Amino acid sequence: MLSNCKENIDEVPQPKNVILLISDGAGLSQISSAFYFKDTSVNYSRFRNIGLINTSSSREDVTDSGAAATAFATGVKTFNGAIGVEDDSTSVENLVEIASLKHIKTGIIATSSITHATPASFFAHSISRGATEKIALQLPKSDIDFFAGGGLQFFNKRSDQLNLLNELEKNNFSIDTVALSDLDDIKSNQKQGYFLAQDAMPTIINNRGDFLSNATDLGIQFLNKDESGFFLMTEGSQVDWGGHDNNGEYLVSELIDFDDAVGKALDFAEKDGNTLVIVTSDHETGGFTLKSKTRLKDDGSEYSDYSEIDMAFSIKGHSATLVPVFAYGPGSEVFVGIYENTEIFHKIIEVTKWGNPVD
Ligand code: MG
Ligand code: ZN
Repeated sequence: MLSNCKENIDEVPQPKNVILLISDGAGLSQISSAFYFKDTSVNYSRFRNIGLINTSSSREDVTDSGAAATAFATGVKTFNGAIGVEDDSTSVENLVEIASLKHIKTGIIATSSITHATPASFFAHSISRGATEKIALQLPKSDIDFFAGGGLQFFNKRSDQLNLLNELEKNNFSIDTVALSDLDDIKSNQKQGYFLAQDAMPTIINNRGDFLSNATDLGIQFLNKDESGFFLMTEGSQVDWGGHDNNGEYLVSELIDFDDAVGKALDFAEKDGNTLVIVTSDHETGGFTLKSKTRLKDDGSEYSDYSEIDMAFSIKGHSATLVPVFAYGPGSEVFVGIYENTEIFHKIIEVTKWGNPVD
């Protein structure tokens, strides 16, 4: 285990709101691609407090997204494939459940199905990430106040014939399956949910457009209507899928889209002054490299042309490389250093004091 750099927490400013943005599968090379391929300014460059995390799970050196998101959401290392349960398979309380006891509003946004491993770890408990219908059952009664993503079919076209859209409405959710609404059109006394695809959202290449940025913006405005404070998790789910596909265009377009959403969070945090923004990844995918272009000499031999970037992958799966953490706002200084992925949870709880006993 990597050492945990303990700060004197009483001297650290306490944020009211926390926005955690996770780019699934983005290591340093994926993030670096924005600096070479994004036409506009890169929002990652707006951070000053930067750290690194070890992403290993409880049983494996190379994590999956379930164990890694469970580390962020609950502060415990678990086995690959697990969602919100400890290594011994018992359920463990997550950040959303803890913060909700303090009346903190909570939201999750993803470009995957909302039942996929990363978002699921913030509302569900399951020994198997593949139990999608069982994971969906847990959303209506969860403490989530706002969600946006795909996954409609796991709620209304189920093998048990249940229509969970009714369950969501019984639990005070207003559900939209067409488009994000204007803030003014959302009933203030309701929770709000958006299912904008049957399973995953389309890719950027297939015209997803500004969904991730717009949902992040709307989620922030919705959750910030109360004075109580909020926690929002936004995931760029498909950076990982570009890596698995060894498809550089797919990967980079998703990473740039994620960076735009990071910009929305930072714009709000700069104005607000009471918001901690944390940007990290659950693991690296693809062994992605920004390499030099390989060209041929006249005699047919190869050489590396350092004047142009090319993209290469070394694996189809995840890697165990440390991944970066970027933090902005009150409390951001505690995210500097090299530590375990579980510390993301513990540091959030420490600086927000959301885990302190309810008065
Ligand atoms: Mg994910
Ligand atoms: Zn993956």
